[in-house]
Amino acid sequence: APTTFRSLLENSRFQGEAVFVAYEDERITYEEHFCRAATLAGRLVTEFGVRKGDRVAIAMRNYPEWIVSFSAVLAAGAVAVPLNAWWTTPELEYGLSDSGACLVIADGERAERLRGTAVPMIVTRPAGELPPGARSWAEALGEVRAEVALPAVEIGPEDPATIFYTSGTTGHPKGALGSHRNLGQAPMSVAYALMRSVAMAGKDPAEAAGARRVTLLTVPLFHATGCFAVLVPTLFTGGGIVLMYRWDAGQALSLVEREKVTLITGVPTNAWQLLSHPDLDKYDISSLGGISYGGAPAPPKLLERIGDRLPRRQASNGYGMTETTALAIINSGPAYEARPDSIGLPVAVCDVRVTDPLGQEVPVGEVGELCMRGPNVIQGYWERPQATAETFVDGWLHTGDLVKVDQEGYVYVVDRAKDMVIRGGENVYCAEVEAALFEHPAVDDVAVIGIPDEELGEQVGAVVRLRPGAAATAEELRGFLAGTLAPFKIPVRFWFREAELPRNPGGKVLKTHLRRETLGG
Ligand code: AMP
Ligand code: MG
Repeated sequence: APTTFRSLLENSRFQGEAVFVAYEDERITYEEHFCRAATLAGRLVTEFGVRKGDRVAIAMRNYPEWIVSFSAVLAAGAVAVPLNAWWTTPELEYGLSDSGACLVIADGERAERLRGTAVPMIVTRPAGELPPGARSWAEALGEVRAEVALPAVEIGPEDPATIFYTSGTTGHPKGALGSHRNLGQAPMSVAYALMRSVAMAGKDPAEAAGARRVTLLTVPLFHATGCFAVLVPTLFTGGGIVLMYRWDAGQALSLVEREKVTLITGVPTNAWQLLSHPDLDKYDISSLGGISYGGAPAPPKLLERIGDRLPRRQASNGYGMTETTALAIINSGPAYEARPDSIGLPVAVCDVRVTDPLGQEVPVGEVGELCMRGPNVIQGYWERPQATAETFVDGWLHTGDLVKVDQEGYVYVVDRAKDMVIRGGENVYCAEVEAALFEHPAVDDVAVIGIPDEELGEQVGAVVRLRPGAAATAEELRGFLAGTLAPFKIPVRFWFREAELPRNPGGKVLKTHLRRETLGG
């Protein structure tokens, strides 16, 4: 595996005029990408004072500049901190202050939300006037020349490369700190998975290796899947990546036709919506060889639908976490058809074990917590020693997912021990929404739960107990949350109840019990 992102970037230059990124009518070749990234990396060092280990935030939708910025930040020896583009002003500001970012590269909409920040800013696609003190992308980049070299910064495999925000058990997300080694092995995980699926399907590996891949990215780059399962492997193999401003199934179909897309990668909701689209048969999507998804439970019915509506396409269900630098376990092709309810086998770099609450391995076939170890597993959380010690025990990452493994090693996700809702692939941490609701003066007690949903997997719901004599409607509570929480986190349904919430003796809400009480079943 390449030891640092820098060697990966340098090697990618050999792809020359091949198109790396396609976005609407824009095309960036590998050569152009290298020159822009190297130029920006140099400017970050000389003009913006970015030094090794400094954090630089990226707050953008899936624009080509996201990719150039990411490459430049890492090549400069700094740590890239991708922020969620759905985040509101307080959430974005939290990301900047928690990571201690010295600079933020933002698109127009995010720049507007961050108008009041004290952190220096580069704005890529301003909608109107630049916020005071901000610099434009063109100004920041300056002249891009072919003879540009990467800045002379010494970067090693154990140096930090990325901070991606993920689960918060106490109300705020925490930064998953990934190294250059973690990132460098990401293409390996994907390559091993591909080799295995080709072999298991009885296909010719030479043929599979020779084909140029063009991947339609349907999920954000600011999540591990978009970055580590698509962007970094694409850069490594010289393929193409097609970006969308926002997910839209009809537009995805037209892009598959226009860009000759060979693979679609996203979350199960994307696949589901694509297959249900009325115009599915109106486009020439013969280039499409596979459809892969992960990040949330995939209903076995989804695979059946792919078989019906997109025959001969290889389906893959990948399991991964931000903490495993995306892909860790995957089920593809005939193996997936034989076990449609399994997430498959671990990728070659990753060891798996299933433990009971005391940390002992459980017998084959029994349910326990999934634990993982390998070069894909990060070292810990940014400035969170306690959370790090709790999650990474003796070198094993404790996932909070309850699984069982069969005789052949296939893994099945049975339940989620962590208090989280996955809505169309965006994780919502119940504690964060609960903390925000507790701020409302009428709220006495609250618990956030997942509501099963065919298309999105889950929707967010809240069970609320109001203070005696207080009044608040669902509409009012939603309005209250809108100032602080990103739209995908805001409950679509509220249940008001007078009875106390069911709690264990430790004071923890019994969510399974509450869900059954509230939703039935
Ligand atoms: P994140 O770190 O935000 O990517 O979230 C990781 C979590 O998403 C895992 O711990 C699982 O709970 C869930 N997850 C990811 N992939 C899958 C999958 N293929 N099937 C079921 N759950 C998944
Ligand atoms: Mg996810």
